[in-house]
Amino acid sequence: MFKLKLHWQILIGMTAGVILAIISQVFNFEDFVINKISLLGVLFLRALQMIIIPLIITSIISGVANIGSSENFGRLSIKTFSYYIVTSLSAILTGLLFVNIIQPGIGAVLPETEMLHSIDGDMGKLLDTLIGIIPSNIIDAMVKGDILPIIFFSLIFGFFINKTPDPYKSHLTLFFQSVFEVMMRMTRFIIGFAPLGVFALIAKTVAETGIAVFLPLAKYMGVVILSLGLHACFTLPLLLYFVGGISPIAQFKAMSSTLLTAFSTSSSSATLPLTIDSVENNTGVSNKISSFVLPLGATINMDGTALYECVAAMFIAQVAGVELGVMEQFIVVLTALLASIGAAGIPMAGFVMMAIILNAVGLDLEYLALILAVDRPLDMLRTSVNVWSDSCGTVIIARSEGENNLKVLKNKKG
Ligand code: ASP
Repeated sequence: MFKLKLHWQILIGMTAGVILAIISQVFNFEDFVINKISLLGVLFLRALQMIIIPLIITSIISGVANIGSSENFGRLSIKTFSYYIVTSLSAILTGLLFVNIIQPGIGAVLPETEMLHSIDGDMGKLLDTLIGIIPSNIIDAMVKGDILPIIFFSLIFGFFINKTPDPYKSHLTLFFQSVFEVMMRMTRFIIGFAPLGVFALIAKTVAETGIAVFLPLAKYMGVVILSLGLHACFTLPLLLYFVGGISPIAQFKAMSSTLLTAFSTSSSSATLPLTIDSVENNTGVSNKISSFVLPLGATINMDGTALYECVAAMFIAQVAGVELGVMEQFIVVLTALLASIGAAGIPMAGFVMMAIILNAVGLDLEYLALILAVDRPLDMLRTSVNVWSDSCGTVIIARSEGENNLKVLKNKKG
């Protein structure tokens, strides 16, 4: 029987969501869309969130337990972190270049906005996040859904399974692999509801936001979108093609449903189950690599967020009439990188982290109110770029580890 591919179903869901939101604004029933229709989106998000923690734990533990020797583990870690740092930095520099050339904040006429007072930009918060990577209580981290400490514990646990003699080692590896298989089947079941969930999430976002707020900030949004576009459509495809020997188009097709979901949910963490599913089934990367690179990437590797932090901070400085010299711009780059590492994979995490950057270069936090109105659409875009970069990194690393049977190789026929 003819069955529409999932990414088409999701696209139809998105379009229907936008149409419903516009009709609701014309006929004044936005409240119904925002409060009632949105419940479908809430259910979809909750279902994804329900599986994230068991999925991360079993995916990492079974992945690391299968990596084998400590040398393999060390090599994979170095490659993974190098990829994260190189791509995040190149994203930031792309943003920095365009924000300096176009200067969207110079002469911008912005509407009066009520200033924000509740955001705390203390650098200590970022340090706490980084120190908190080592959990003092792993159950507490699970209860709170703190992903970084959970990842850390799972990495160590998987590593030491490898150091344990049989039969314990084989029993435990088999156990975690078995639970992981169950989690992946649950994931695929939940993904089936993505078109409906995405429909509701988009309808709510459009009904809530409207178009009018975008106009005064169009130039600023333009710079963020242009830089994100360049990073996603030029820098990362170049890396895919030349470093990984991967066809960027095949990779994009393999990830399309996942990217649409990242766009609609604005959450790398909520999208993680789909990311793992697409990378393993559509690109053919082994579970050993994907289960190591993807959960870490969803939390640490955020190219889109890093770029956004830099452009937004520079924009605010331009609006405030504060000239940032080379040294200050260097601080912006560095804190944008740290902020993107520290930001959780949830909606608006990048916006909250902005406070740290503004603090670092002595800008007033109240200026954040100016860019709040357009944060959501930019969040949708930067989250898609975050997830895209995670997926590109996984195939590049898999290739470098000798996985030559990927379905997305550039010279693959058919
Ligand atoms: N929403 C983004 C993500 O989940 C983080 C951000 O706010 O920039 O990847």
